Amino acid sequence: MINIEKLSKNYKKNEALKDISLTVKKGELFAYLGPNGAGKTTTIRILTGLTHKTGGTAYLNGFDISKETLKAKRQYGVVPQSTNLDHELSVYENLYIHGLLYHMQGAKIKERIDMLLSYVALKDRKKSPVKELSGGMKRRVLIARALLHEPVILFLDEPTVGLDATIRRRIWGLIKKIQQDGTTVFLTTHYIEEAEFLADRVAFIDKGTIVAVGTPHHLMEKQGAWAIDLIENGQVETQYFNTREDADQYNVNRHKSYTLRRVNLEDVFLTLTGKKVTE
Ligand code: ATP
Repeated sequence: MINIEKLSKNYKKNEALKDISLTVKKGELFAYLGPNGAGKTTTIRILTGLTHKTGGTAYLNGFDISKETLKAKRQYGVVPQSTNLDHELSVYENLYIHGLLYHMQGAKIKERIDMLLSYVALKDRKKSPVKELSGGMKRRVLIARALLHEPVILFLDEPTVGLDATIRRRIWGLIKKIQQDGTTVFLTTHYIEEAEFLADRVAFIDKGTIVAVGTPHHLMEKQGAWAIDLIENGQVETQYFNTREDADQYNVNRHKSYTLRRVNLEDVFLTLTGKKVTE
């Protein structure tokens, strides 16, 4: 559904993307994970036709985003990082205008708005001005707007950034539901738990380079199952173990304070790049 080959982007001397290649299958929920400045938004901006690539190719559902831009653009909906809604207009008006931009018929737009506002649990806020909504509600309006023209791909750029844990989980439930209804989802995030919870597959990006791709389970399995964090000379040092018994054995004669925990995707990223995703 998404096919990227040797995609590159230079901003003057800054190589934001360095020949990245990725394939996302139909119906997959794919998470693109990396620290600030890694190149996540640049990738989405190229895939959605907002930024020109420097080199390589990108296809959405078989359409080349550079050569068949209009057709490629009809394949996706996008939820951007910033809330680019018209805050003076109501939820309904924001969605209706979006439908018109996609040349949808009035009756169809109304039908889709009612359906989608139920879907994102905002039916009772249809007439509310956007400025009166909470951050989580605005994010749900953005998701409804992105789905209005029935795209086969949904791009979500940091969909839960700045939201509290309860709202974040609610958005996760909604994202899963969208995938279960058949949409391919491409999600950028720097929240490890978000990628672990949602994704069928994850790609790690660091300094414009893909450093690993795989299922969360497969990537973590290589790292081990258990981790012990020890404080040594003011630094956190982490040891990895395949079994809980091995981890317990390591600690038998130690009297230092430590934390035993399950391995997570942060450990995988740290091992590959020497830094944390969340730094
Ligand atoms: P974040 O998690 O902070 O959103 P990101 O992974 O989305 O980060 P990008 O926004 O894609 O990262 O940025 C990748 C690199 O490209 C960074 O070095 C950034 O400074 C640079 N960059 C992004 N947009 C521009 C631009 N319009 N002009 C110049 N440099 C840019």
